[in-house]
Amino acid sequence: MTVLPWRFLAIAVLVPVLLVIAAAMVGANVGGGVERTLIVFFINLAAVAGMGLYCGNSGILSFGHLSFMGIAAYTSAILSLPVAMKNMTLPNLPPVLAAIHLDFVLALLVAIAFSMLVAYVAGLVIARLEGAAATIATLALLIIVHGVIIGARDITRGSQSFFGVPRETDIWVAAAVCAVALVIVRLFRDSVPGLKLRAAREDLIAAKANGIGVKHERMLAWVLSAGLVALAGVALGHFLGAFSPKKFYFHDTFALLAMLIVGGMTTMTGAVVGAVSITLVSEILRRLEGGIDLFGYQLPEVFGTTQIGIGLIILLVMFRRSDGLAGLDEWDERLLPWLFRRKMPEGDDAPKLAATKNEDTLVADTVTKRFAGLIAVDKVSLSLAPGEIVGLIGPNGSGKTTLLNLISGVLPATSGVVTKGDTVITDMPAHRIAGLGIARTFQNIRLFRTLSVRQNVLAAALNAWPKRSVAEAEAASAAALDWMGIADKAESKANTLSYGDQRRVEIARALALEPDFLFLDEPAAGMNREETDALMETLRKLRDTLGLGLLVVDHDLPLIVRLCDRVVVLNEGKLIAEGAPGDVQKNPDVITAYLGRKRQDDIAA
Ligand code: ADP
Ligand code: MG
Repeated sequence: MTVLPWRFLAIAVLVPVLLVIAAAMVGANVGGGVERTLIVFFINLAAVAGMGLYCGNSGILSFGHLSFMGIAAYTSAILSLPVAMKNMTLPNLPPVLAAIHLDFVLALLVAIAFSMLVAYVAGLVIARLEGAAATIATLALLIIVHGVIIGARDITRGSQSFFGVPRETDIWVAAAVCAVALVIVRLFRDSVPGLKLRAAREDLIAAKANGIGVKHERMLAWVLSAGLVALAGVALGHFLGAFSPKKFYFHDTFALLAMLIVGGMTTMTGAVVGAVSITLVSEILRRLEGGIDLFGYQLPEVFGTTQIGIGLIILLVMFRRSDGLAGLDEWDERLLPWLFRRKMPEGDDAPKLAATKNEDTLVADTVTKRFAGLIAVDKVSLSLAPGEIVGLIGPNGSGKTTLLNLISGVLPATSGVVTKGDTVITDMPAHRIAGLGIARTFQNIRLFRTLSVRQNVLAAALNAWPKRSVAEAEAASAAALDWMGIADKAESKANTLSYGDQRRVEIARALALEPDFLFLDEPAAGMNREETDALMETLRKLRDTLGLGLLVVDHDLPLIVRLCDRVVVLNEGKLIAEGAPGDVQKNPDVITAYLGRKRQDDIAA
């Protein structure tokens, strides 16, 4: 399922496929060195695009993908080697393998399937890790697979060259492999799992709080990307005809990573740009390396020129454009944005958010959170009924944000229980709590910064429960943006918006989940009086129209008093007062907590 219109994606993939075909026609006609260079280029591009499918969308760099290339190349080679040849070169091959002889296509399919199976098993560990730990795990995978290939001497000829592989890869096979990889990579990026992964790449905590449980998406991307790299590996094996484990180790990992990083790993366009530029540069540097005659001067041979040159290019690109030469957008998003701008129906036909049917009350019962020596939340009990607006106030550091984190599952509670109706949510992961209809915003805005406003909201809308279609999620997104008055900024990147608009996007994103309860952590921070009043008006209307229960954190006492049905006051982690706004305002403990703090602040200032 994709999140962009088909007519747009059709153009987005058709153009690169046509370019690949055109290049292949040129290569086939010119022949010789050009043709061979192009074949290698196509295979590299397929591999880079495949790596990008995982690395780009998840934001986790992988050193391990060459192992899938190796596994696939060896598997397909062994399966397609004629039996007589096997008896000669691999006398100790297990009988099952010795007797098999598959044709190229079948061998290719089995090799890819096997590589994906290995990826799945490895992914059980790797797809669970975050950031640098995940990258290091992929490095371990590369080393392990390399070791296994060398160790399985009877099957692979160990570190010696494996030869006699049927040369099936001509320029058309290579072009087809490349085209398939580009199409899958481009479509995955704007698929439902692709969008969720990219959201999580930008902000994992916000993604989880908006119902994105990234585990399955990450595994899917990992296995798919292994499959594409495996496809490239098979093509490479059947192009070279002979190879050794060295071919699938650090040297080539470095070369492909250079393409990925220089071009930009988050897009198909980046893979193309990276593969083209690094291929061109290496061709030029390789000639220099062999010594060259420059206007009559004979330049000496300099070994390592290519490697050093590529290293310098990576450095330069990282300094000037850390997202790679192609940046974060696909070519089609950059050049054809009008093609996918859609108008949502207006007036009576405009999409609307559904009113909640929830009748359960949310109850936190004596929840406590301890950070090392500090008790940030100390046995606080709190309830929030459907359609109720509760204010949570208290001086800075009194535990308001921490309490929201505990209820929404962003932090585990040290003790205490949180329930929604009969459901205990205390130990649920945050994305499941969001799925149960508890949405929130963050005090320090957490948007998916490089995604558009529309994508920010859609990534959340897709997780509403019960499951809904992309079209329904899009309608909910549009309605949520409309509620917050930012529908006209739908195609802007989130990080280009003003502070106030970013807060509105965050609320729209939470609303798009069509939640039963909405927590807002200092929603008016950074807004002027006018904006704040408008926001309060919107919040009240949301409650009246949709029946949401709202929990609003702020330290602006007058504001909370005007908005809320009930107010809860925290001080130093403890609940010190609770009740009608007017009463709480007069409560001596509350006055002391606020004034006491104020006086200290005044002295400090
Ligand atoms: P509030 O939102 O009311 O300003 P917080 O809930 O952010 O207060 O913080 C309550 C207390 O817990 C503060 O003393 C803060 O320093 C501490 N705290 C909050 N989060 C953490 C954390 N992740 N690790 C350690 N201490 C924390
Ligand atoms: Mg706070």
